[in-house]
Amino acid sequence: MLVAVPKEILPGENRVALIPATIPALTKAGLEVLVESGAGAGCFIADEAYVKAGAKVAPNADELYAAADIILKVRPPEADEVGRMKEGVALVCLMDAFFRLDLMQKLADRKISGFGLEFVPRITRAQSMDVLSSMAAISGYRAVIEAADLLPKYFPMLMTSAGTITPSKVFVIGAGVAGLMAIATAKRLGAVVEAYDTRPAVKEQVESVGAKFVEFDLETADAEDKGGYAKAQSDDFYKKQQEQMKAKVATVDVVITTAAIPGKTAPVLITDEMLQAMKPGSVIIDLAAERGGNTEGAVANEVVEKHGVKVVGYTDYPSRSSIHASQLFSKNISTFLLNMVKEEQFAIDLEDEIVKGALLVHDGQVVHDMIKPLMEQQGA
Ligand code: NAD
Repeated sequence: MLVAVPKEILPGENRVALIPATIPALTKAGLEVLVESGAGAGCFIADEAYVKAGAKVAPNADELYAAADIILKVRPPEADEVGRMKEGVALVCLMDAFFRLDLMQKLADRKISGFGLEFVPRITRAQSMDVLSSMAAISGYRAVIEAADLLPKYFPMLMTSAGTITPSKVFVIGAGVAGLMAIATAKRLGAVVEAYDTRPAVKEQVESVGAKFVEFDLETADAEDKGGYAKAQSDDFYKKQQEQMKAKVATVDVVITTAAIPGKTAPVLITDEMLQAMKPGSVIIDLAAERGGNTEGAVANEVVEKHGVKVVGYTDYPSRSSIHASQLFSKNISTFLLNMVKEEQFAIDLEDEIVKGALLVHDGQVVHDMIKPLMEQQGA
């Protein structure tokens, strides 16, 4: 079986799905590895490093796809890439399936078995395959670095001969993986950090990384689904949340928002009116910008200034830390793949909870129980 790693073609994407250090584990399991020339350039890995680790290098994407049985990628493929894949191959990558039903159909048409890494169930056995956590942690870290760079203030408290500098205040909304990493990073830089999440279960985690958990007078008993993800709330709930958060955001220097609902656009938690109440010079890092943003007026991949507040909508933080992001991604994706290789044979075992959880398209059909109904709705 030949495992192929193309160069990512999305502009600005610097990650690569597999780094040389992970290749021996695959070849030991009986797989061959073929990497497109230049695939590692965004994280400073030369073709020779892949060859040294036991891979072959294809001079271009055409040759790579013509030989590939299993394709490992970071980003969902573009139409042109799907067209180059052989019928019946397996594809493992971040698929963005809820928002890419068109892609699901294309994969089905070409009888490609498509696995979406974001659908790997968050169970203990799959922890080392958890790409979402690996990438979210990087985003949380870089969100704080970005905020510290843009904020016209120090983060830490300083006693100087010219007077005392009070520490900056950071408020993190959404304490999942990204939020917790943002809290820990802001603490390390010396800020005073507070956080809020609709899932009351995270209070202890927030406190364990050094922030104060802010409690609002909101009904949150039904905040979490069986998978531990946040459930979408009513418009009335979000309105109440905005009202109560207005006073909080007016007192802080930095807001980092990470509030996401899987498969849905992000809830707006910071309205224009709340921006007006914030201190001029404050910074909002909106990590939900790719899904519409938690901040009214946030624009994906841009910094917009509203009422003196900078709203940062970058969506490429993992790619900005391409070396570590690729290292973690490579470990996650290869562990996921090796779970499907037994006695040197690659097989899709639909009885395996992890395989079934991540399999979106198979045998010419969209098979995932969260995506299939959306496809049917769309067809209706
Ligand atoms: P996510 O990216 O889906 O969402 C980010 C956070 O935003 C969540 O904590 C969510 O509760 C919060 N949120 C949503 N709406 C909000 C609102 N209106 N106001 C404030 N906060 C809001 O989350 P994630 O980081 O992917 O984590 C999701 C779950 O998965 C968590 O329970 C996490 O602990 C769990 N998890 C489990 C494992 C594992 O066991 N292997 C690994 C990682 C994460």
